[in-house]
Amino acid sequence: MIRTRYAPSPTGFMHIGNLRTALYEYLIAKRGGGVFILRIEDTDSERFVEGATDAIFETMELTGLKFDEGPGIGGDFGPYVQSERKGSYLPHAKKLVENGKAYYCFCDKERLDGLADERGLKKYDRFCEKLNAEEIAARLNSGEPYVIRQKILDGKTTFHDEVFGDITIDNREMEDQILIKSDGMPTYNFANVIDDHSMKISHVVRGSEYLTSTPKYKLLYEALGWEVPVFVHLPLLQNAAGQKISKRNGDASIPQLLAEGFLPQAIINYAALLGWSPPDNREIFSLTELEQIFEPKNISKSPSAFDINKLRWVNGEHMKNLPSEVFYEMALPYLKEAVKITAVDYAALAKMTQSRVTLVKDCAELVDFIDELPRYAIDLYMHKKMKTNPEVAALALESAIKEFSALTKWNHDVLSATVTKIAEANDLKNGQILWSIRTALSGKATTPCGATEICEILGKGETLRRLGIGLQKITISS
Ligand code: GLU
Repeated sequence: MIRTRYAPSPTGFMHIGNLRTALYEYLIAKRGGGVFILRIEDTDSERFVEGATDAIFETMELTGLKFDEGPGIGGDFGPYVQSERKGSYLPHAKKLVENGKAYYCFCDKERLDGLADERGLKKYDRFCEKLNAEEIAARLNSGEPYVIRQKILDGKTTFHDEVFGDITIDNREMEDQILIKSDGMPTYNFANVIDDHSMKISHVVRGSEYLTSTPKYKLLYEALGWEVPVFVHLPLLQNAAGQKISKRNGDASIPQLLAEGFLPQAIINYAALLGWSPPDNREIFSLTELEQIFEPKNISKSPSAFDINKLRWVNGEHMKNLPSEVFYEMALPYLKEAVKITAVDYAALAKMTQSRVTLVKDCAELVDFIDELPRYAIDLYMHKKMKTNPEVAALALESAIKEFSALTKWNHDVLSATVTKIAEANDLKNGQILWSIRTALSGKATTPCGATEICEILGKGETLRRLGIGLQKITISS
């Protein structure tokens, strides 16, 4: 049975790297028909950030990463929370002491600080490991503060990682790490191992920054006589400056990306691509599709970099895939802000812009010319491929003003037929007329719809007024 867990410490918001870890854990579980759980690792109260736990739930919920079980806070369904399990760690540490795999340490801060300073040693010198049983009992009885440390014997430790392969390190590089702190709380490393075992976690998925701690974890599993889980360490994730993505420098925060208008499904899709490649070149997936095709064996070792432009592209693709009524609801406030003329069909504007935006708010600038003709340069009438230039435009606009003024009906068919008539009469191509009209009506090089559609949106009066402005601009400058 595959069981995975996302085990965040509530030290801040989730960034794209945290979300990737959660997603890969989720996908590995789902792919194997297994169980995904959420465990809040909050034993380190000094690093605790108010509101971080709620922010994590919210992000998991919005992105669709539902966990399958957990007692929650106060017993309701919800994630596992280490601070609610305080009592479950000390007995395991005591058992390790009994078996000679851990020992009590009474060294105070002063001694430990001195160690590092005078002898240049960063490692604990195992001073208390040599204490005899009577002395230990006496000091415990007198209520002297203590910690419990793991005893790491000399030798070498090898572990296997699914992504990075076999890794061996010399035990001398490891310290006799603290398992239980002087306040009786487990250290984060110890609680992590106890919980992974008691929650029957089969696959431990986490960032590659944990690779160096993994030998210690392995020794702990062995000391406790427990099966070592499968380790899956994910490649380093860098920001645009080539540094490791971190909460501290505010990198790619998920709440921030959501606030900027990135869709949860696009963020999830993009996170999946940060260190994993699908078998073909396809890059756009829903979470359900990812559940079906994600293969841990396709996780790469090489670092990947967060690229906001790629995320924008992915977002644009997901925008296109939204049902039109969903996009309409999202776009409406922006469209209303950008286009205030009465009688405008916002649903039609939404339809025109949906396939052209990367973020929903981009729809506003695509249609902002409707309310007000922007200033534009005469050069805009120049288009080599369309064989259009200010002289052609002058002819086109002059004819359009004349022919359009005479129209009694104002719709696409009538307008198109009129454009064809103008083109034929002047020995020009329809495209040359349309380009000129569209430029005069929008003042923009690109618009989300064609010339006749803009005529319809603006109505006859405003169309004629803008065509007049265009013609005048060209005439004055020539
Ligand atoms: N609590 C750790 C963190 O927030 C995760 C450790 C793990 O996944 O094993 O980074």
